[in-house]
Amino acid sequence: MIGILCNDIHSKLNPTRVARVLRPASEAEVVAALKEAAADGMAVSICGARHAMGGQQFGEGTLLLDLTGLTDLGELDREHGTIEAGAGLKWPELIEGLHARQAGEEVVWSIRQKQTGADDLTLGGSLAANIHGRGLDFRPIIGDVEAFTLVDAAGEVRRCSREENAELFRLAIGGYGCFGVITSVCLRLAPRMKMERLVEVTTIDRLLPALETRMAEGCRFGDFQFSIDERSPDFLRRGVLSSYRPVAPDREMPERREELERHHWEELIRLAHDDRAKVFEVYSSFYLRTHGALYWSDTHQLSVYLDDYHAELDRECGALVPASEMISELYVPRERLVEFMAAAAGRLKDGAVPVIYGTVRLIRRDGESFLAWAREDFACVIFNLHVEHDEAGIEAAAGAFRDLIDLALSFGGSFFLTYHRWARCDQIERAYPQFAEFLRLKEKHDPEGRFQSEWWRHHRNLFEMP
Ligand SMILES: Cc1cc2nc3c(=O)[nH]c(=O)nc-3n(C[C@H](O)[C@H](O)[C@H](O)COP(=O)(O)OP(=O)(O)OC[C@H]3O[C@@H](n4cnc5c(N)ncnc54)[C@H](O)[C@@H]3O)c2cc1C
Repeated sequence: MIGILCNDIHSKLNPTRVARVLRPASEAEVVAALKEAAADGMAVSICGARHAMGGQQFGEGTLLLDLTGLTDLGELDREHGTIEAGAGLKWPELIEGLHARQAGEEVVWSIRQKQTGADDLTLGGSLAANIHGRGLDFRPIIGDVEAFTLVDAAGEVRRCSREENAELFRLAIGGYGCFGVITSVCLRLAPRMKMERLVEVTTIDRLLPALETRMAEGCRFGDFQFSIDERSPDFLRRGVLSSYRPVAPDREMPERREELERHHWEELIRLAHDDRAKVFEVYSSFYLRTHGALYWSDTHQLSVYLDDYHAELDRECGALVPASEMISELYVPRERLVEFMAAAAGRLKDGAVPVIYGTVRLIRRDGESFLAWAREDFACVIFNLHVEHDEAGIEAAAGAFRDLIDLALSFGGSFFLTYHRWARCDQIERAYPQFAEFLRLKEKHDPEGRFQSEWWRHHRNLFEMP
């Protein structure tokens, strides 16, 4: 068969055969590729580091533009705390580049937030999904974006900001590559700070008051990693709350501190699959030992991700079918969090679709992006569920996620579009009443349908757009 088979990194549930892959190394090469695609009548899909899990980055038969070659680090504005950065830069490269640029300086500007659980994600992919990290009082990343440059469907280069091409600014952030190729981003930074990690084991009913206390004490980051043992009364109830509070700049940073190394993560992942009672004990005792440890505000957001970890697990346990994990993120008004978690525990406690990992975080309302998922100050609940890659396994996971979405919606919440595309049309319409308008605006900005992905095609069909 002709073409190149692509898939996403984490769930591996999106095998898609693209016609060709091009990896432009400059904005000029992006423009040339788009003009050539237009001349040939080719549809174009856009990828960064390939972590989205609903086919947002691939389209069957398309020309795939892989943007990971756009890694220029432009001007650092020390007065306003911004940097112009290539959309293909991944977070570790960006952080290292910023440190190198400011070696020995008293104030070091660095990133404000990034995703947790994986680092090799690009800036372009992060904008296109309007991501968030574990900030306690942060908006999604749109709040960190001053402007970006986009090459549109006609191959025109456009600067987009709140003042210039403002509609495209609101659409392309959180627009999953439907409106053009982001080539570079002017990102707002924050002075790098020393922070102390505060760790406690608590329960879901005490979480929000505990977080409020921590925020009043000055904590800027935090998350609650809950028990995944479906046979325990602690399931989705008891968890480890880690918060991070700035400390005086003259506090001595340790040469070494206890970290979760690669082999610890391998062990934790194995336990999460075959001893879900133990994994919480191992995990929480590690975190409790790090209570009071010091971290930098940027690098504490980095974490280990084990590429292809599931293939190894499958081999070890002689799995009959390959498996992986699929993530979902559900949002609920904060005052409904406890009820939502109890209802979710009721749905998942039969263990038919095991929870491998889960956290609760907070988000501030995003009043700017068109397809805003943070419609209000939500609590965010992340579930990483085990999926066996046969028809029954996929349907079981899809059904569980649809039920979790129904629950979130019944509490006035929403869900993230970055992951699978298993939501029903009515669920999308309820969470995103503006979705049909989003598709119409896509058509307005891209009348020839230059930018196409399996994700866009699925939604166009679901909403019966021409
Ligand atoms: C293990 C794991 C942990 C995660 N944790 C979090 C988290 O904590 N918070 C969170 O918010 N998300 C999280 N995510 C989701 C992730 O942030 C998004 O899927 C993100 O889009 C991935 O970036 P990427 O570089 O891999 O992009 P890809 O997956 O390659 O692409 C994603 C989307 O971005 C578009 N895109 C990519 N580059 C460009 C560009 N230059 N111009 C225009 N469009 C572009 C693509 O077309 C596609 O629609 C996680 C995902 C995984 C697998």
